[in-house]
Amino acid sequence: MYWEKDIETIPREKLEALQLARLKESVAKASSSVFYGDLFRKIGLDPNDITTLEDVRKIPFTTKDDLRDHWPYGFLAVPKDDLVRMHSSSGTTGRATVIFHTLNDINEWTNIVARSMYMTGMRRSDVFQNIMTYGLFTGGLGFHYGAEKVGALIIPAGSGNSKRQIQLMQDFGTTAIHIIPSYALHLSSVFEEMGVDPKSDTQLAIAFLGAEPHSEKTREKIEQFYGLKAYNSYGLSEMDGPGVAFECPYQNGMHVWEDNFILEVVDPDTLEPVADGDGGELVMTTLLREGMPILRYRTKDLTRIIPGPCECGRTHRRIERIKGRTDDMLILKGVNIFPIQIEKKLMDIPGVGTNFLIVLEREGFNDLMIVKVEVQKEFFSGDLKQLEGLRRRIVEDLKSDILITPKVELVEPGTLPKSEGKAVRVIDNREE
Ligand code: ADP
Ligand code: ZN
Repeated sequence: MYWEKDIETIPREKLEALQLARLKESVAKASSSVFYGDLFRKIGLDPNDITTLEDVRKIPFTTKDDLRDHWPYGFLAVPKDDLVRMHSSSGTTGRATVIFHTLNDINEWTNIVARSMYMTGMRRSDVFQNIMTYGLFTGGLGFHYGAEKVGALIIPAGSGNSKRQIQLMQDFGTTAIHIIPSYALHLSSVFEEMGVDPKSDTQLAIAFLGAEPHSEKTREKIEQFYGLKAYNSYGLSEMDGPGVAFECPYQNGMHVWEDNFILEVVDPDTLEPVADGDGGELVMTTLLREGMPILRYRTKDLTRIIPGPCECGRTHRRIERIKGRTDDMLILKGVNIFPIQIEKKLMDIPGVGTNFLIVLEREGFNDLMIVKVEVQKEFFSGDLKQLEGLRRRIVEDLKSDILITPKVELVEPGTLPKSEGKAVRVIDNREE
């Protein structure tokens, strides 16, 4: 059940003492980088000023723009010769940021990924198919190294080529997969097309779902279609990548590996800490990173800490499923809407297929939200007009949640653009 029982179930006081000792070291290491060296001089912060965990707040936040402005080497805390690998973010919101690792950094990262996978029940007897892009994106190599450490047999399939993915699963008896949730939904329609039922025709038992926000409904849909248990996996390249926070068998929030990171949740407007259990923006600090320590990083991801202990016995706190990024929020007629709200509603309506797209248009002075929804194959007789009832139900259900009336367009199965990486959920045509 535990990969490293002592550290996973360490009493909170001990964990916090360990965090403080590591925070001091991390701040000292960071001060040898150009960025933090200059910053600490400017604000007169000495690593010795950190004497309690709360003192982390003496350190200013670091943002994605800071990383971009000091691109590529301004955050390096070791000579370049000590580095063994670089990764980058996916560039979802602008120029991709790069992160550099020493061999120790890779080993520590590998360990938390292994710990996460082991926690869900993956073992050396498993056959693990990694359906993620290998290369600069952290989801490929990050999981690969973790799975190798657990000792599973890895099929480094990479992303895309859906029919081949299914063939590999059947030929080699894949038991565990790592997959982007929107792609898992898309792949389900390819299974149907090929007449393969994952429940009876494969040995799939575990899926790791990560890299993009997805609702509980989407998880359920995937679990039911594939006949497996799906675990939410959260990470970001700035904090290594996958392995930062992961669901345990209780599937109720993701444990953040607090021996590796300090976790804070702040109000994204005031930047003050929120009350325990309240929602806000996740802020994270690396505790073990040598190559490129990052302190108080504003992830822009919205979540909350789930108060109280977890039934699994791990003492590392849990965060709730990510609601989206602060910059995913759509403001329409004064109402704030996150794409995941739309997803959640859609996935609950029988007849809705595996893909949708939100298009925002300006009509005169009005903003218009168009939701294009693929219908499910079995519901589709060749004539979308016959599905007016479904269309109206979608309008009503969305309206009841987001409070504005969207225009809903049903489209044929498989016709919306699909992505092999993170799904593009919103196209905003409002700016001229
Ligand atoms: P980018 O920030 O350019 O997308 P990354 O590849 O580093 O680059 O992606 C990290 C981001 O992906 C996170 O900050 C978060 O917004 C999103 N993400 C990763 N895993 C999850 C998850 N399980 N649930 C929701 N969002 C996730
Ligand atoms: Zn747990």
